[in-house]
Amino acid sequence: MLRAIYPGSFDPVTYGHIDIIKRSSKIVNELIVGVLCNKAKMPLFSVEERVKMLKEVTKDLEHVRIVPFHGLLAEFAADMEARLIIRGLRAITDFEYELQMSQTNHKLEPNVETMFLTTSIEYSYLSSTTVKEIAAFGGELSQFVPEAVAVELMKKMSTKGECNK
Ligand code: ADP
Repeated sequence: MLRAIYPGSFDPVTYGHIDIIKRSSKIVNELIVGVLCNKAKMPLFSVEERVKMLKEVTKDLEHVRIVPFHGLLAEFAADMEARLIIRGLRAITDFEYELQMSQTNHKLEPNVETMFLTTSIEYSYLSSTTVKEIAAFGGELSQFVPEAVAVELMKKMSTKGECNK
C-alpha cells in the first residue's frame, strides 16, 4: 500500500495542481492532498474554503483524499503513514526551495521520500498568485481554474476593497 501526501497552500487550487493530483494519483494507491493551515502566509481563502474547493474539483477522482494540516509536513506524513511526499516543479526558481525542503524533511523523517513531478508544459506558467492577480482585475479565469473555483474567486474579490471593483 503506497500512500503519498501532496502538500500545498492551494490558495486557490489551479489546473496546475489538478494536473499533479491526477498524474500522481495514478502512481500511488492513495493520495492525500494536504492543505496547509498557515496563518503567517495570509491566505486569501480560509483553510475550510480551500478544502471545500479541492473536494469539489477532485470529487470524480479515485483514491484522493483532502486533509487539512498545520505544523511540520514531515510529522503530518508520518501521522498519515505516508511514505512519499509529492511536489510539482515548474521552473528552476522552484528548485532551490524544494531541494532544501526535501532534504530537511528527509532528516526529520528518514522513511519519507520526496518525489517531484515536472509540470505539464501547458501549466508551467501557472500559479495561485497569478490567478489571484487576474481575478483582482476581473480577468477571464476559465483557462486557469475550474468554474467552481472561479465563482469563489469572484465572490471573494467582490467583498474586497475599491480597486477590485
Ligand atoms: P506552496 O505554498 O507549498 O508552494 P502551492 O499551493 O503554491 O503550495 O503549490 C503546491 C505544490 O504544487 C508545489 O509543489 C508547487 O510547486 C506545485 N504547483 C503549483 N502550481 C503548479 C503548476 N502550475 N504545475 C505544476 N506544479 C505546480
